[in-house]
Amino acid sequence: MNDAQITDRPRHLYDAYILDLDGTVYLGDALLPGAQEVVTELMSRDIPRLYLSNNPTRDREMYVRKLNDLGIPARPEEVITTVFTTTQWLLQNAPDATVFPIAEEPLIRALHAAGIRISEDPREIDIVIASYDREVHWKKLQIAFEAIWYYKRAYLIATNPDMFCPFPGGRGEVDAGAIIAALEATTGTKLRVNCGKPSPVMLRTIGQALGIELERSLIVGDRLYTEIRMGIEAGVDTALVLTGETDLPMLSETAGRFHPTYVLPSIAEILPSP
Ligand SMILES: [Mg+2]
Repeated sequence: MNDAQITDRPRHLYDAYILDLDGTVYLGDALLPGAQEVVTELMSRDIPRLYLSNNPTRDREMYVRKLNDLGIPARPEEVITTVFTTTQWLLQNAPDATVFPIAEEPLIRALHAAGIRISEDPREIDIVIASYDREVHWKKLQIAFEAIWYYKRAYLIATNPDMFCPFPGGRGEVDAGAIIAALEATTGTKLRVNCGKPSPVMLRTIGQALGIELERSLIVGDRLYTEIRMGIEAGVDTALVLTGETDLPMLSETAGRFHPTYVLPSIAEILPSP
C-alpha cells in the first residue's frame, strides 16, 4: 500500500473544466466552499464549464435551478446528462438506426428532437436503449427481448450503468443497471455501449459534440470509480477532490490503480495560485 498524498494545484489554466456535481460543487443541498469563486473566475476568463450527471430522468433546467439557487450561475447547455450523451452518440455513430428506448420522457423527447427514429416493432429495431425507467413493464422488456434475441438484429446500449441511484439518507432507487442486467440475462447479449460514467465514451462524445479539446481539459470529481476512472481512460487530466466519497486512505487502498493528475482538498484548489 502506497500512501496517497495531496498534490500541488495545477500550474496552468485548462481550456475547459468538466465538473462532477454532488461531492464536488455541492454536497446534498449545501454549496461546497470555493465552488462559487472558482466558477466566477472561470466565467470572467470565458473558460467553458460543463456539469456532468449520469441521471437521464432529469431535465437540464432542474440542475440549472439548483445551481442558481446555490449562487452558481449556470445555463442549460452547460449541464450534460446522459440524455445528451446518448442522443449525441447516436447522431455521431448510428444516425440512421431505429431505436427502442426503455426510458423516461426526457430521453424520448431528446431522441424526437434529434430526428432519431423510434419504433416498438421488434422487426425493425436496430438498437435497444436501456435507461433509468420508473415505468418499465413486461411489454417493454418483451419488445427489446424479441428485437435482440428472436430477430437477432438489435444491439444493446445504455444511458448509464448504475444499478441504483442513491438518495440522501441512505435510500435509493432501481436504475438503468437493472434493465441492462435483465436484457443481458434473458438474451445472452452484452451491453455494447455505455453513454454515462465511467465510460470514456461519455467524454469522447461530449468532446466531439461540443468541439472541446479533451487533452486540454480537466475533469474534477470526488469518485475514483466514476469521473476519475473515466478521465484516465479517455486521456483527460483528472483532479480528485476530497469533499465527497473518497478520502486519502481510500485512494491508498487502490494500490496505485488510479493516479489522478491532481489530488486536492476541494474544488477551491483547481485553479493555479493567483
Ligand atoms: Mg460526485
